[in-house]
Amino acid sequence: MKRVLVGMGAVAVAAAGVLVPWNDPALSFAAQAMPVTATAEAEPIEDLIYPWCSGVPVTLRPGQGGQAGYTSSHHPVFGQGAVQEYIEVGEDLPAGHPSTAAVALHECAHILQYRAYDYDASELESAMERVYPEGTASGVEHMADCISEVLGAVRTGQDGRGVPYSVGYGGTCDPAQLEASQRILAGQRA
Ligand SMILES: [Zn+2]
Repeated sequence: MKRVLVGMGAVAVAAAGVLVPWNDPALSFAAQAMPVTATAEAEPIEDLIYPWCSGVPVTLRPGQGGQAGYTSSHHPVFGQGAVQEYIEVGEDLPAGHPSTAAVALHECAHILQYRAYDYDASELESAMERVYPEGTASGVEHMADCISEVLGAVRTGQDGRGVPYSVGYGGTCDPAQLEASQRILAGQRA
């Protein structure tokens, strides 16, 4: 459940490129007895996150997790330049499986979090901790799960063959957290 966050301020002074990823290696499904006949492809995932994250390029990455982030040029005087968002989804996730959809929607939720907070990672983090303070992972991760739920993700369940799966950081989303999710979906702060 490790989250890698490269803070914007730390990088901005040293380099032109700012990379802020939320890395989700732990977003793997329960692997028992799950024959993966076809693995995830980028194009169906782009359809799945439409229209919320339409235009955000989706690429595959090793494993079953996912990652969402953005790069932007940052100048000490002129400030933030153009932002390029991206989503990466594990190439070992099964195609057409609800777990794959849940991972993709979770990553899309991170993009919506970034946007709602104008790419200010520390403001986003503290706001998400306020809304979701007592999870086993960070508030950002639990709220990404809650937002994904509002977008239709089914984080735990059975697939078409009756094999149980679980994706995400656990915990449930209470009504206040779901309402905060709706605000983020609307581009507002939680
Ligand atoms: Zn995440």
